[in-house]
Amino acid sequence: MTVEVVLAFGANLGDRGATIRAAQAELATHEAILSFEPSPLRETIAMTLAGPDPDAPRYINGVARLTTTLTPHALLDLAQSVEASHGRVRDVRWGDRTLDIDVITFGDQFITDDRLEVPHPRAHERDFVLSPWVALDDSAVIPGRGSVAALLLGLGDTTMPLEPEEE
Ligand code: AMP
Repeated sequence: MTVEVVLAFGANLGDRGATIRAAQAELATHEAILSFEPSPLRETIAMTLAGPDPDAPRYINGVARLTTTLTPHALLDLAQSVEASHGRVRDVRWGDRTLDIDVITFGDQFITDDRLEVPHPRAHERDFVLSPWVALDDSAVIPGRGSVAALLLGLGDTTMPLEPEEE
């Protein structure tokens, strides 16, 4: 059985765009990932526990829509192993990171346990998730929250396109 999944990617240290594209290439070639469509990437002000921080290194963010035969937890394991292979050090929550991968939606499933909350509990209020997602799929929906395009319209979009040399 296959399911459609949306993953979100973020990086604010190192060669951010290249790291995200390399991580996406690893996932796209995994035997249990049957299709993989990345969004355009956007540049965004870092969000910290204290709110937006214009002095912190900016993020590059994007999403990808994929189909997989993996279970939600096996996909989380895979995403975390890809994060680890790109040197993600899990120190400060919301701190700077070379690569962060979040599971945003997993089909129309609702999951809450000690490792996973899906749909991602903050995706609907993050323009850096919604904006690249709309660019990929303008009819996307977050189960329980509604239209991604409408959510983004309500929130406002502070994300920026990438400089051409970072594409
Ligand atoms: P972070 O530091 O933001 O990458 O958070 C990672 C932690 O969040 C891991 O321990 C995961 O088990 C947990 N987590 C809960 N829900 C999700 C989700 N939807 N996607 C990714 N990680 C999640």
